[in-house]
Amino acid sequence: MADRKSLQEKMLQLSRSRELFEQAKSYSFEYLDNVEKRNVFPTDPAQQDLKFFDESLPENSTDPSEMLHMLHQYGSPATVTHTGGRYFGFVIGGVLPPVMAAKWLIDTWDQNSVLYVTSPISSKLEAVSERWLVELLDLPIDTAAGFVSGSSVATMSGLITGRNELLKRSGWDVNSKGLFDAPPIRVILGAEAHSSVSKALSMIGLGKDRVELVPVDEQGRMNASKVPLLDSNSLVILQAGNVNSGSFDPIDEICDKANQANAWVHIDGAFGLWAAASKSKQYLTQGIEKADSWSVDAHKTLNTPYDGGVILCRHREAMASAMQSVGSYILYSENRDGMLYTPEMSRRNRAAEIWATLKVIGRNGVEELVDGLCERSKQFEGLMKENGFQILNEVVFNQILVTCNSAEETSATLRNLQQSGEAWCGGATWHNQNVIRVSVSSWATTEEDIEQTVSAFVIAREESRRKSLVSNFSK
Ligand SMILES: *Cc1c(COP(=O)(O)O)cnc(C)c1O
Repeated sequence: MADRKSLQEKMLQLSRSRELFEQAKSYSFEYLDNVEKRNVFPTDPAQQDLKFFDESLPENSTDPSEMLHMLHQYGSPATVTHTGGRYFGFVIGGVLPPVMAAKWLIDTWDQNSVLYVTSPISSKLEAVSERWLVELLDLPIDTAAGFVSGSSVATMSGLITGRNELLKRSGWDVNSKGLFDAPPIRVILGAEAHSSVSKALSMIGLGKDRVELVPVDEQGRMNASKVPLLDSNSLVILQAGNVNSGSFDPIDEICDKANQANAWVHIDGAFGLWAAASKSKQYLTQGIEKADSWSVDAHKTLNTPYDGGVILCRHREAMASAMQSVGSYILYSENRDGMLYTPEMSRRNRAAEIWATLKVIGRNGVEELVDGLCERSKQFEGLMKENGFQILNEVVFNQILVTCNSAEETSATLRNLQQSGEAWCGGATWHNQNVIRVSVSSWATTEEDIEQTVSAFVIAREESRRKSLVSNFSK
């Protein structure tokens, strides 16, 4: 037999030699060097090459260098380039290069952030990030932060905490008694809440169809005068940033009503809560400090790597009690135990990336980042209008909804744009219309990227017109 070394012997040898890490580093640099030249969405051949991964489970070892090579050869070309400046799909942020570098180091540590004793550094960076985020977003002092995978889990955690706390106030302990026979909790929700909110409601036993829906205006904002009479069994869910239009609910007004009734307010601010860090956009988040819990994604507007969601809650003990149904939790120990604030136990050191971002760019940098996304969005809106596209929403933040002259032309233009590889946007249905959704979410998007994207839109629309002429002619 050629190779009789044990797995352990081999791994020890690989860990001592730096070759594989050097190889990974050179692939990473090659990837970064080509970001601006690559198709924003993988080409058809690149997607077809993914078939090379359809192998059966290897019985024996593969040369690790070959494994890395395969990952780079077939994996890198099949990535979506959202580290570049012309990806506008969903709401997907970028990554600041210094934070990417920090992540390399953080990954090498491979920490588990469950407790102080599993990682003092994770505990410290969670505590510092918590304090910095609370200050940056101007939330109540001693607001607790849990570092989770994204806003979906953050919202779920906030709603669980709100549900348990409201029921506790009426003498019902959900942790021990469950929800059956509990006093009913009312859920008040805007008609255009994000789908992750309905998902959370269904998962936590509050039901997505028993909510009291509040009608919204043409921008998707809840109509404050249509909020039903609230009481102390009400869980009110507001939105800072409509995923299509970018609009914000009238937070201040609804929070006042909710607070008078002793209701719980959760704000889904996945990408929009960051408006609070900008003096020119703060008007959108006015009153957020009156809510009880907030969900926000660092991996969107703040441009940290995936997966970086945060649940913030002003009632620290309520949150810890909801996240720890068993055991005694010590809240005021000297050191932070991360698991008190999250559904998970084992987690990677996510807060370190938030810390690295805030450390490098500071409060002013966050403001510049947020303002930059908004300015690029206004630039995009202006250029698109000049070129005869319709913009359906008031561009208040970083989201733009585009249509062409007909539903067919809109769909065809979107398809052509996606295939061009120049830029990538997604489609959506907005008020029964096919629309193209544009989200300017990355630090890397320059004014030239916007110009290039608008030109790509014009070409994509011309192509769709040419094709429809040809098909009409041949009828
Ligand atoms: C993206 C988004 C979510 C879901 O966040 P994930 O991080 O993908 O779980 C929730 N609400 C809004 C408004 C969003 O934009």
